[in-house]
Amino acid sequence: MFFASDNAAPCPPAIMDALVRANEGFAKSYGADAHMARLRDTIRTLFDAPEAEVHLVTTGTAANALSLALYTPPYGAVLCHRHAHIAEDECGAPEFFTAGAKLQLVDGVDGKISADGLIAALEGADRSVHAVQPSCLSLTNVSEAGTVYTPAEIAALAKLAKSHGLGVHLDGARFANALATTGATPADMTWRAGVDVLSLGGTKNGLMAAEAVVLFNPAKSWELELRRKRAGHLTSKMRYVAAQMEAWFEGGRWLDMAAHANAMAARLAAGLHAIEGAELLYPVDANMLFARLPDAAHARAKAAGAQYHEMGDGTCRLVCAWCTTDAHVDALLATFRG
Ligand SMILES: *Cc1c(COP(=O)(O)O)cnc(C)c1O
Repeated sequence: MFFASDNAAPCPPAIMDALVRANEGFAKSYGADAHMARLRDTIRTLFDAPEAEVHLVTTGTAANALSLALYTPPYGAVLCHRHAHIAEDECGAPEFFTAGAKLQLVDGVDGKISADGLIAALEGADRSVHAVQPSCLSLTNVSEAGTVYTPAEIAALAKLAKSHGLGVHLDGARFANALATTGATPADMTWRAGVDVLSLGGTKNGLMAAEAVVLFNPAKSWELELRRKRAGHLTSKMRYVAAQMEAWFEGGRWLDMAAHANAMAARLAAGLHAIEGAELLYPVDANMLFARLPDAAHARAKAAGAQYHEMGDGTCRLVCAWCTTDAHVDALLATFRG
């Protein structure tokens, strides 16, 4: 009963097999290998974006911070949700890699920035020489509350941001889960909705240390490469990162795994609905949910060895992974029910 995070899950056999196959002889280093070339083509095709540039890093934090640095000068501000990962969980990396830009926190219910919140932040901004200049909007899909923005919602927010001259970044640590929920195409969820740069997360959905920065404006590519190297994130044995992601996309595996994780969270949510005194805090759109449960239910689950984050006040976060099973979910529900 492991519901602490999807990044604690193992990698599926297909990914390990791809690594073994990639482990043949010599291959050019620093991303000049055949795996990287094929992966770039695959992502361009999947995103219907023949000009897109793809650069791999090994953490989502690096993908986010380097992406934001492309669109935010040191005297700029990144607008993001109050509870965004970049604001709460990256130890100041966005501020560091932008050389000191400010994160400006925007409100919105259920973990999503609202149009009103964004308008207030954009129109209320002090544009004088005394203030940081709003430079980039960062959205997270799946959001930190486990909710999902539709492409139309992203497009509306991106349009507002662009009308004020901002760049648009999408933190897609759980991008595949957001696609699986909405059925949207990768293109509709990103560049067609106005997204300039995507942090495409693999680690939460079955890969090990494999994340891509997808640039829809290739003019930013060289700068990203230099920033990545300077940050110490240019992996020399890149073939092992690229080979994982290649196998992930093969036959739609990334979406199948994400859809499975989402289905497990839906099963969990349905079970929680039926438990006296249990309450879901947000709509359950993808593979992560937040609930409030009686103390006794938590005590029983913990005593039975269930692992998940408690946030105090009876609230907890439960995350399902590509390999979570019906039996795992039902066992957790049974301990909650008592
Ligand atoms: C997990 C996560 C990341 C990336 O985190 P790393 O630990 O740096 O890989 C980024 N954004 C969100 C929303 C996440 O959940």
